Amino acid sequence: MTHIPAAPAAVDYLLLTPGPLSTTATVRAAMLQDSCTWDADYNLGVVEPIRRELVRLATTPEQAADYGAVLLQGSGSYVVESVLGSALGADDGLLIVNNGAYGARMVEMARCLGLRHLELDCGETARPEVAAIESLLGRHPEITHLAMVHCETTTGMLNPLEEVAALCRRRGIRLIVDAMSSFGGIPIDLGRLGIEFLISSANKCIQGVPGFGFVIARRAALAACAGRARSVSLDLHAQWQTMEQQGGKWRFTSPTHTVLAFAQALRELEQEGGIAARHRRYQENQRTLVAGMATLGFEPLLPAPWQSPIITAFHSPTHPDYRFADFYQRLKGQGFVIYPGKVSQADCFRIGNIGDVSPARVRELLAVMAAACYWQEGAL
Ligand SMILES: *Cc1c(COP(=O)(O)O)cnc(C)c1O
Repeated sequence: MTHIPAAPAAVDYLLLTPGPLSTTATVRAAMLQDSCTWDADYNLGVVEPIRRELVRLATTPEQAADYGAVLLQGSGSYVVESVLGSALGADDGLLIVNNGAYGARMVEMARCLGLRHLELDCGETARPEVAAIESLLGRHPEITHLAMVHCETTTGMLNPLEEVAALCRRRGIRLIVDAMSSFGGIPIDLGRLGIEFLISSANKCIQGVPGFGFVIARRAALAACAGRARSVSLDLHAQWQTMEQQGGKWRFTSPTHTVLAFAQALRELEQEGGIAARHRRYQENQRTLVAGMATLGFEPLLPAPWQSPIITAFHSPTHPDYRFADFYQRLKGQGFVIYPGKVSQADCFRIGNIGDVSPARVRELLAVMAAACYWQEGAL
C-alpha cells in the first residue's frame, strides 16, 4: 500500500481539447529514455536540431539565418511572460489587443510586470478591427510594441494577423504574436509578416506533450533583450545565450522526456507533409465537425469567416434538462473528451480539432453524439 492511489487504468480517450491533446503512441514512447542535461547526445543531438527545425518551419530558407529559437521550461503562459518581460525597454510602450482570455492574460502580465501598456479591449466575440488599432497607434506615439493572440482559443477565433502585421510594418511597430494554439497547424511566415517574436508551446499543434514552450524571433530582437528581463527564471536573453553558447544547453533543468517527445512530434509533422498538410487535416476535421453538429441542432458561436480550424465553440442547448457535466460524462464514457466553454457572456462548450485526430475519428464522435444528447427526444 502507498499513500498515492494507483494511477487510473489507462484508457485511450480521444482528447478534443486545445492542449494537452491526443498524441500518437510513438510520441509517447519517445519518452521512455532518461537523458543527462550535460550530455552532447541530448543537447547537440536533440535540442539543437529542434531549434533549427522550429526556425525552418517559421521562415523561408533565405531568411532563416536572421531568426533563432529559444525553448523555455513551463507552460505556454510562462513563455508569453518571458517575452513581454524581456522585449520591452524602460521607455517602450506596449499595445495589447485583447479579445479573449489569452489577450486578457497578457494584460494581467503587463500590469504585474509594471510595463507601460495600453489595452484595446475588443470584447470576446468581436474580431479586432485594424482601423481601431491604427487610430490608437496614431494617438499614442509612445507605443513601440504590439502584442496579439493569433488564434484566440477562448472562442476559436482567428484574429487578422496579416492585416495587423501589415499595419505594424507600415508604422515600425514591433509585433509579438501569441501563436500558441496555431503554430504548426496554420502556416505562418515570420519574415514575410515581419513578426519579431512568435510564441507557442510543445503541447499544441506540434502535437507533443506539455512541459515547455518556445519563442521564434529575429536574432536582432533577441539580442536587444539583453539586460531587460524583469525576472531571473524568465530571462529570455539569458536562456537564448546559454543555448547559443553551450550547444543547446538549457539554463536550468530541462524537461528531458518532454523534449524527446517533441523531437519525435516534429519528425511526425514532417512525415505528415509539413504544416500545410496538417492545416488541411485540421480544416477537414473542423468542417466535418460543424456539418455533423448542425444536423444535431448545435450552432457555432462564431460566424464561419472568423472561425479557425483549431477549436470550435458551440452554443449550449437551451433545454432545461441540459447539463454540461452530464453531457461531458456521456461522451467520456464513449471515449471522447470535449472541453467546457470559456466565454464570459455566452453559454458554450468547445470541441478541438487538433492533435492526433482524423476526420474519421470526428465522424465517430458525431455518431455517439446523437445518443449523448439525452435531453433530446429519441436519445438514449
Ligand atoms: C494554450 C494557450 C496559451 C498558454 O496556456 P498555458 O495553459 O499556459 O499553456 C496561451 N495562449 C493561447 C492562445 C493558448 O491557446
